[in-house]
Formats: sequence, structure tokens, C-alpha cells
Amino acid sequence: MTEPATTTSKDFIREIIDEDLASGKHSGTVTRFPPEPNGYLHLGHAKSICLNFGIAQEYGGRCHLRFDDTNPTKEEVEYVESIKTDIRWLGFDWGEHLYFASDYFEQLYDWAVSLIREGKAYVDDQTADEIRKTRGDLQTPGTASPFRERPVEENLDLFARMRAGEFGDGEKVLRAKIDMAHPNLNLRDPVLYRILHAEHHRTGDAWCLYPMYDYTHGQSDALEHITHSLCTLEFENHRPLYDWFLENLPVPSRPRQIEFSRLNLTYTVMSKRKLLQLVNEKYVSGWDDPRMPTLSGVRRRGYPPEALRNFCKTIGITKFESTNDFALLEAAVREVLNRTAPRYMAVLDPIKVVLTNYPADQVEEMEAMNNPEDPAAGSRLVPFSRELYIDREDFMEVPPPKYFRLSPGTEVRLRSGYFIRCHEVVKDAAGEIIELHCTYDPETRSGSNPPDGRKVKATIHWVSAAHAIDAEVRLYDRLFAAEFPDRGEGSFLDHLNPDSLKVLSNAKLERNLAAIAVGETVQFERLGYFCADPDGTPDRPVFNRTVGLKDAWAKAKGQS
Ligand code: ATP
Ligand code: MG
Repeated sequence: MTEPATTTSKDFIREIIDEDLASGKHSGTVTRFPPEPNGYLHLGHAKSICLNFGIAQEYGGRCHLRFDDTNPTKEEVEYVESIKTDIRWLGFDWGEHLYFASDYFEQLYDWAVSLIREGKAYVDDQTADEIRKTRGDLQTPGTASPFRERPVEENLDLFARMRAGEFGDGEKVLRAKIDMAHPNLNLRDPVLYRILHAEHHRTGDAWCLYPMYDYTHGQSDALEHITHSLCTLEFENHRPLYDWFLENLPVPSRPRQIEFSRLNLTYTVMSKRKLLQLVNEKYVSGWDDPRMPTLSGVRRRGYPPEALRNFCKTIGITKFESTNDFALLEAAVREVLNRTAPRYMAVLDPIKVVLTNYPADQVEEMEAMNNPEDPAAGSRLVPFSRELYIDREDFMEVPPPKYFRLSPGTEVRLRSGYFIRCHEVVKDAAGEIIELHCTYDPETRSGSNPPDGRKVKATIHWVSAAHAIDAEVRLYDRLFAAEFPDRGEGSFLDHLNPDSLKVLSNAKLERNLAAIAVGETVQFERLGYFCADPDGTPDRPVFNRTVGLKDAWAKAKGQS
């Protein structure tokens, strides 16, 4: 066994594991990540994946991937495949430990029969509604079902006939016989099985009887010899039931359930039901829309998996309910991309610049650093010529005070190019600027200061017009404009950010960006990080803005 990684402070779950190993309760760790295949994974799942698979890595244990597929009506193979892809992308691997709760249906059924035999379960003919109404509440005990005292033989017979398909959906259920007055409502004779005549993605039509989540989860853990079953706080109240099953069934091991607080993030929603609604009602282009908080969405957006892992490490594991600032995640993304993303120049909203004193047929290959943070990344050649594009934002005909970028009469540096000075603004009939006439100073090659010591106050980016690639750039912003879209009156949909996507269809990219593969993230100098999207073609790439260079939202908030 490898030594646990040395960390300065361990979370309470790792402390429990250390104790269990020290006391000899366990000789190793086995954890599991148990998604229900009823949607795509989101950022909250990343927290659970990093915890479960992270523990396996640190302790030399193993982590199972188990699909909790007990609800055939909502589950699909598409989800199973996307979940596997997303976990691998995050950097984790379950090896040969891939399981499905549906693999245990036969064993779970046999155990249910044994509970019936022991007088610990009964078939109830009440409707779901009647069962709910007789459950009582925190002040009132529940009332026993008229079928609670059914003889064992009758229960066995009915349960077998339920399996054989003699009854319709909802006609009968199997319930545990625990305590209708128990202070914990989950122990008031919970339902173990329901009838559902539905096709299952793995078992087909072999079953019309499906186990409930609570009856399945702990026993699946026990069958897989899970040592620590880590789940989110909403299952805290279910733990006594989890333990009741383990105590009352001949399970091969005794896993321990430990709860931690779920990940919540500002400016987003994280429930699969709501994410499904965004997809189905077409507020986004799909589960992998770059604005979605899904793993497939942030991947398409250009978030590096390392940034998600670092973020999960930063926020840690506790039992306190909290909401983390989305900006913290974006900072983690910037931190990784600043180190790793190669730099290029791109002009999103072009104006043409004509250098009137530059030879018409000349092209110079200028050397530009690929990443000033990483000298090993080397340099590249960028063509420079008489006609260039610069971004419309970098020119103002009547500049306000402190505007140091290009304006009539001022001089700026073109990064890795030359100093240029603007002499003339050319407009069309409508008064729209179409061209700037400038001169360059041959003594400032590569953007160096000229011998006379003249300085400029701004450096701007550019591309050579004849060499530029036409592209579409999608400027993504947060999907929700409200910090807590789930809170307050009305629907979370009321808080969608109307400016979450702006498409620029006339962008001009540096020639070298033609070689960027789909899924790669680069920095467009001065603009932010951008990821090549699968919608692009070799002639016309599409880039998604991953994140800006600075936190624009913090600035906006600070000013208000
Ligand atoms: P949702 O509430 O979004 O529908 P879920 O809990 O139903 O999610 P599952 O597929 O059952 O989704 O989740 C698989 C695992 O991921 C569970 O162990 C669950 O506790 C964990 N998980 C889900 N959401 C979060 C979250 N926001 N933070 C941390 N862990 C989470
Ligand atoms: Mg769930």
C-alpha cells in the first residue's frame, strides 16, 4: 500500500479513513462514485468524483464506478456513455471496477424474500397517495396499513406474483416493516419495491418490479465491499435506514456512509432536473452547450480538467452547506491556462489599417513568444505586411482622457510588430470608419523602442490582412445574471442572462491558428482564452471564449 499523500490539513473524511486504517478496522479503502444515468454529469459531480477517486489514488485503494440504474423510465444508454467519457476526461479511471446496480437485482430480490420470511417486509395494496398520507409527519406518528399484518405465506405468494407480472403499475408495493411511529420518517415502513412495466436499458423486460434507491444503495455497497460510502448531506436522514438494511440482511461486508456538503456555485443551477429543462426547452444548444455547468459543457468551453481538480482541492470537503463563488472556479481555470495555453493574436471586430509607407509587396516574418510564462514553449513567426487588422476597440477617433490606444495623431506599438502612428481616418458614406491610414517606424522592429528613446503608452494586437483566417468567435458569458438563480420568487428561468452568448462572425485570426485542433484552448493576446469548437471547419474555425483574462464580474460589482 502506498502512503497517503502528505497534506497540511486533512478533511474529516480522510481523518476517519486514517483512523480506520490505524485501528485495523480496514486494511485498505474502497470507495465508489454512484451516478444515476439520468442526465449528464455537472460540476457538483466533479466534487464527488475528485473525492472518491482522489481517495483511491492517495491511499492506494480503488474506486468503483457504479451506475445506480434502478429507475428504468428516466435512464438511457446515452447518459451511461457520457458519464464514462466525462470521468475519464477529468483524469480518473475505474479500471475493471465498472458495476451496475441492475447487476444485483436477483440478489436484492432474494434478500427481499428473506425479509418477508422473517416478518420484516409486507406487500401493501395501498396507493402511493394513501401511503404518503398515512406516513404522518414530525409531530404525528404514521398509521399502519390495513395490510401490515398480512401472513408471511400470503406476502411471499403476492411478491412472487408481483415479479411474475400479474399486477399493474402501482397496484402493490413491498414495504419494510419497521416502525410507523419512528421519529425518522424514513423508517416508517419505507417502500422497497414498486411495480413498473418498463423496459430497462440493461435488463430489458426481465423485470417489472424495481427496487427503490434506498433499498439498493447500501446493499450494492456491501456487495462490492465498499469501505466508505461517501454521499451528500441530503442522505444524512437516510443513514439509519441504510444501516437497518445492513443489520437485517446477510450482507458480505459493512460499509459506512459518511455525508459531506454538496457543491453549489453562484450564477448557476446544479440540479439535473433543471439542467434537463434547459436542454429540453432549448434555452441552450444541448447538454454540452459551453454555458452549461455540465462537464461536457465546460470541456467544450475550454476548461482544463486540471483546473477542476485544483478547484475541488481548494474548496475542500466539509459538512457545512455553502455556495462557492463562480469566480473562484474561473480563477482556477485562468491559473492553469496562463501556464499552459499558447498565445496567438486574433482580431474579433476588425478595422483595416493601411501602412502607407510600408512596401506593398513586402512581407516580414516577425518572431513572437508562444508563452511568456513558459520560455520552453518557444516562439513562432507571424507575418507582417502593409495591410493589417486591429480591433475596433483599440481605436477612437475622439479619445477621452487616458485613452492611450490608437487615435488620430497618436503612436502605439503593434505587439511583435512596429510602432505605428495614425494619420487619416477613412469613412464610408454612412460615416462608419472603414480604414485607418497609418505610418510605421522602421526603427522599431519587433516593437522595440527607437534610437531616439521615444516611448508609447499602449501595445495592441493585430493580424496581417492577407494572411488572416476568417473565423467565428462565440463570446460566452454566465448563463444566469443572478447570483442565486434558484432563490426568491418565480422560476430560475427568469434569471437567464440575455447576453450569455454573443456571436462575432467576422473575426480575423493569426495564420498559425489554423493548426489548432478542436478542443484545444489558446490565449488570444489581450482578449482571453479561447477553445476551438467542433462546429468549425478547416476553412472557417469557430472559437469559444473560455474565460476573459480578468474577472469582469468582480469589476462590474465593484463599480455598482
Ligand atoms: P442532482 O441532485 O443534480 O439531480 P443527484 O444527486 O441526483 O444529482 P446522482 O447521479 O445521484 O445525482 O449523483 C451521483 C453522486 O454525485 C452522488 O453520490 C451525489 O451525492 C453526488 N453529487 C451530486 N450532486 C452533487 C453536488 N452538487 N456536489 C457534490 N456531490 C454531488
Ligand atoms: Mg440522486
